[in-house]
Amino acid sequence: MQVFKFGGASVKDAQSVRNVGEIITQFPNEKILIVVSAMGKMTNKFEELVAAVLRSDEAMRSSVLAEIHEYHLNIAHDLFGKDLEKSIGMFNDVFLELIKVCNKAAKFKPAFAYDALVPFGEFLSTVIIANYLGSLQDCAFLDASTVIKTDDKFRQATVDMEQTEINIRNKVLPIFSKTNLVVTQGFIGSTKKKYRTTLGREGSDYTGAIFSYCLNSKSLTIWKDVAGMFNADPRFFPKAEKIDVVSYKDAIELSYYGASVIHPKTIQPLQNKNIPLFVKSFLDPHEKGTIIQENAHYSIPCYIVKSNQVLVSLSPKNFSFIVERHLSHIFNIFDRLDMKMNIMQNSALNFSALFDANQFDESSMLEHFSGDYLVRYNTNLELITVRHYNQEIISELTQGKELLLEQKTRETVRFVVRDSKPL
Ligand code: ASP
Repeated sequence: MQVFKFGGASVKDAQSVRNVGEIITQFPNEKILIVVSAMGKMTNKFEELVAAVLRSDEAMRSSVLAEIHEYHLNIAHDLFGKDLEKSIGMFNDVFLELIKVCNKAAKFKPAFAYDALVPFGEFLSTVIIANYLGSLQDCAFLDASTVIKTDDKFRQATVDMEQTEINIRNKVLPIFSKTNLVVTQGFIGSTKKKYRTTLGREGSDYTGAIFSYCLNSKSLTIWKDVAGMFNADPRFFPKAEKIDVVSYKDAIELSYYGASVIHPKTIQPLQNKNIPLFVKSFLDPHEKGTIIQENAHYSIPCYIVKSNQVLVSLSPKNFSFIVERHLSHIFNIFDRLDMKMNIMQNSALNFSALFDANQFDESSMLEHFSGDYLVRYNTNLELITVRHYNQEIISELTQGKELLLEQKTRETVRFVVRDSKPL
């Protein structure tokens, strides 16, 4: 058995959906579970819908709903042509259900409303895709939220792997005894009380890994619009090279540092069962792509750049040393504010932490810290991480740049510099 994951870009229009069909037909007699995201950029649209619903902005809500409806209907129309009516039944049901939830959701807490509404992007997408693939070969539809069980941290739910594995084995294996193809949604789960949850943006890769783990699949393939994993983002580094083989360890480190090719949680379940992960291009399905597996002997430098960073520095006003007590107080507040540090450092009298700019709110920083600390911050910074670095690379990257912070281990060097010009 294999698990394939198709993200939004790979199902953004009718032509892309047909391409998914072509890829699948290249694996005859193979059992395949496909995990699909919302089409194109629909999750962003659904986030707009949630905002409109929570604000009770009726005009906005209807216009976003109309856009969502039209976008999907156009794709369905292109795919099914005169058979549209026949193929679209379940789509209409899902859309009606979405409207019903919209009508109730203004009273929900924001994260709960988000998880009640945003998964509809995945449902509309999978209903269309399952219908289309079903016109090519026998194919079953699975509601992933009935098997993936999570806690109730809405928008960032944690998966209960034990229960999920039992559910997937009990429910999905019997389906595969009747059909070779199962279509399901990425990114979603449900609580014990059956409320829908989401696993964090871009979480469908992780869903693919969960299914691979629970089904002991022979591999997971993530189909992307790039040829594999690169040692740098080709948009910023024209000399970026594709990496053929990456170890699980390097893949985890790179995604942790911000390489956005795969969701950071994806590797762990695969590593636990030694399941290889292929990252391949849906535009060139015959190309080798990148394999992520246990061992890989490569050491070309990998570059990850995060722009638009803010460095917050806190110094105790009473000139006391930064000790565990301060750190625990500071971490506690960051945790409460849901602020994720990208890097941190402390000295005797100073603690610094770096955040994505959209996580930083000056007034709440001052509110929480200005009593005990002198609060300073620098905006417009860049965090550059290089794995497998050498001295030459360090000099090249830092030349002419104002360096605010530097951290080095044997394998990895990280700098915070003032964002000046693209590298
Ligand atoms: N549709 C969700 C998102 O755009 C999940 C995913 O695509 O992985 O974040």
